[in-house]
Amino acid sequence: MAKINENYLKLAGNYLFAEIGRRVAKFQDENPSAQIIRLGIGDVTQPLPKVCIDAMMQATLEMGRAETFRGYGPEQGYEFLREKISEYNYKRRGIDVDTDEIFISDGSKCDCGNIQEIFSADCRIAIADPVYPVYLDTNVMAGRTGNRNEDGRFDGVTYLPCTAENNFSPQVPNEKVDLIYLCSPNNPTGTTLDFDALKSWIAYAKKFDSIILYDAAYAAYIREENIPRSIYEVEGAKDVAIEFRSFSKTAGFTGTRCGYVVIPKNLCGTTSTGEKVPLKNLWLRRQTTKFNGTAYIVQRGAAAIYSDEGQAQVRSLIDYYMKNAQIILDGLKSIGLTAYGGINAPYIWLKTPDGISSWEFFDKLLTQYNIVGTPGAGFGPCGESYLRLTAFGSRENTLVAINRLTHNI
Ligand SMILES: *Cc1c(COP(=O)(O)O)cnc(C)c1O
Repeated sequence: MAKINENYLKLAGNYLFAEIGRRVAKFQDENPSAQIIRLGIGDVTQPLPKVCIDAMMQATLEMGRAETFRGYGPEQGYEFLREKISEYNYKRRGIDVDTDEIFISDGSKCDCGNIQEIFSADCRIAIADPVYPVYLDTNVMAGRTGNRNEDGRFDGVTYLPCTAENNFSPQVPNEKVDLIYLCSPNNPTGTTLDFDALKSWIAYAKKFDSIILYDAAYAAYIREENIPRSIYEVEGAKDVAIEFRSFSKTAGFTGTRCGYVVIPKNLCGTTSTGEKVPLKNLWLRRQTTKFNGTAYIVQRGAAAIYSDEGQAQVRSLIDYYMKNAQIILDGLKSIGLTAYGGINAPYIWLKTPDGISSWEFFDKLLTQYNIVGTPGAGFGPCGESYLRLTAFGSRENTLVAINRLTHNI
């Protein structure tokens, strides 16, 4: 029999969403008339912007005619999309990111998960706690960690606690790590990293020759002026950081699939003999071997957000969700609950009342108010006694949910 990759066995089952589903189904079964509102999901609910639909219909027609048909696309994605990304997301903000530093993909989860492949198996990683599970789990699968301990943490990983005390901003460790995963605006805490925080990480990375893997999937939700949208807004970042972005939350592409990675030309790793190798070359080699690009039709749809009209439509989509976030935040605060995030991100990180556990509070919300959140403990030990609510619901459901809470607690 073929031996398996036993690293997979180190991972706990994907219990979080399965367990949520089980509890919700049981409750609904016992209370058939309950109108359950789900504010737990990390998926968008509103339709794609019209510019995207129009562009994709047009592209679909092109695929149906021999003269305009397209087969495999360019290795790094179509130039028309990379041009727009470079212009709108970087050059217009005074950041120099060239089209040949951009790699189009079918979403950011794969990019964040696959990037570790181009690094040595003995690299030490640092991750925030709580955090989006992909960073850690993919490194566990690759054998870059030890076993899981009773407290839910893996040996051989540097955890960066993010708590109310440090404004949910991970602090640089004393020890050397090779790869640092940062996510801002953050899923699940909904908080952001400011210029000072990023400066200290860039200084750390330069000192220890580390690489920062910067997940900016929610960059489009940043409202406050003094918060960097891209790590490259901070001086020196191009020497140490890879950035991940996605159309999923920006333009409702969770089911349409498009994202990209920026790997600066001069960003290098080293061989065991100390020779410098551009990371961009390794990623290109990896992608051309294991990936054949995202659909032409989808890339046309994504590119459509980069016009005045497209930007306006994306802004109104995000405004819609951020208005939900404000309704949730205001509602929670009006009944004396403590909540974070929700200003520059579609996530609200709610402190459970009276220090009860994440799961106890989850049950209370479900059974008393018929509202589903996501227990913070599912994102890491430091998420205990928190619950994540999302602004991705419809306005109507969000209002009903908050009304229930504010009139009952
Ligand atoms: C949603 C999300 C992504 C993007 O995932 P896609 O694969 O592009 O849909 C990346 N990082 C975080 C933290 C996310 O929450």
